[in-house]
Amino acid sequence: MAQSTYEQVLARLKLAKEVLNLDEGTFAILCEPERALEVNMPVRMDDGSIKVFKGFRVQHNTSRGPGKGGVRYHVDVNYDEVKSLAAWMSFKCGVVDIPYGGAKGGVCVDVTKLSEGELERLTRCYTARIAPIIGPMKDVPAPDVNTSGKIMAWMVDTYSALTGQYQPGVVTGKPLSVNGSLGRNEATGRGITIAVRELLKRLNLDPKKVTVAVQGFGNVGGLGSILMSSLLGVKIVAISDITGTYYNPNGVNVKAAFEHSGKSPKKLLEGYTEPGMVKIDDPKAVLYTECDLLVPAALENQITAENAGKIKAKNIVEAANGPITAEADEILKKAGKVVVPDILANAGGVTVSYFEWVQNLYGYYWTVDEVNDRLDVKMSSAFDSCWEFAKEKNITMRIAAYCLAIKRIVDAMQARGIFL
Ligand code: GLU
Repeated sequence: MAQSTYEQVLARLKLAKEVLNLDEGTFAILCEPERALEVNMPVRMDDGSIKVFKGFRVQHNTSRGPGKGGVRYHVDVNYDEVKSLAAWMSFKCGVVDIPYGGAKGGVCVDVTKLSEGELERLTRCYTARIAPIIGPMKDVPAPDVNTSGKIMAWMVDTYSALTGQYQPGVVTGKPLSVNGSLGRNEATGRGITIAVRELLKRLNLDPKKVTVAVQGFGNVGGLGSILMSSLLGVKIVAISDITGTYYNPNGVNVKAAFEHSGKSPKKLLEGYTEPGMVKIDDPKAVLYTECDLLVPAALENQITAENAGKIKAKNIVEAANGPITAEADEILKKAGKVVVPDILANAGGVTVSYFEWVQNLYGYYWTVDEVNDRLDVKMSSAFDSCWEFAKEKNITMRIAAYCLAIKRIVDAMQARGIFL
């Protein structure tokens, strides 16, 4: 039977434990979240009926600071998934060395079936349900799959009303009008672009000659494609979303494609065409594109033991959280593929979330250049540490990233000690 997502977190943790020589007690602490909350939200639907939606907020480890991590709205959200995403957030914040623990939230809902009013009522009820465990110094949510600045603004408003004071630092990824940060919206895509730039540099590849396939065309895949092609000059030959794979050997006009999906009611690529483009109905076909670099930017568990052998790209930069399973890791490693792991490659989002939170606490706001320059420093130095540690220990970049993060978390755990 295939491993659950959390079993895959544990499989990687175990590998890192061996490299770091962690003792059993410390390892046991990292294997379970500190706190997990299940919530159920009754929402008055537009037709007058009441529907109950299930959600979660999980805090994996807060030794290095408040919990940090997004809130996902998706029909497949379940406890195992949110727990995994929370652990990945602890490791992600550890890799880029920002002073946070890891947390994650999720609501099991198909957002395409909700009106704007229903979405707002659901968000406000979810915020009220998790309010006892969130806060600028406790746990700071942010956007993730199918959540946006608009939803963060409702969360700020609800939390501020409940606590009787304006608290923009309770969530990040807010619109600028509610004390968001310049550069936050495209931060994950910009971080991916930096990771790709650093990888190509080390492989001595000229970006202008590099072809790329991108799975998923939302905030991360869409904006990431635009930034990769405009800042690095790589050629994006295939993009995809749930409506199919869109292939153009001459290079997809990713800006036009993003404008198209942005204007469509469900934010999808359906109906997008351009000269030289072929549409393939199978959304997964994008993974098997003949190209130099594959960027999975959709959901977890996309590249598994079943299909890993079909990947043609020599290099993979994980823009989504958990797109490759632990079993697939082994297959890709044997095939000599280089994988830049999610907890490093997609850390640009949470890094600029950290900058946003700092600005909120400080009450003083930075220019977009200050944000982008600081992001570049953080991402490039984290990339370098992972690359060098992987080389030194002869391990994959994923396990190197886990080790560097876990080392920082364990140092904090040991310095603080165990309460009581
Ligand atoms: N949801 C994003 C992630 O998975 C961002 C989290 C954040 O900014 O806190 O990294």
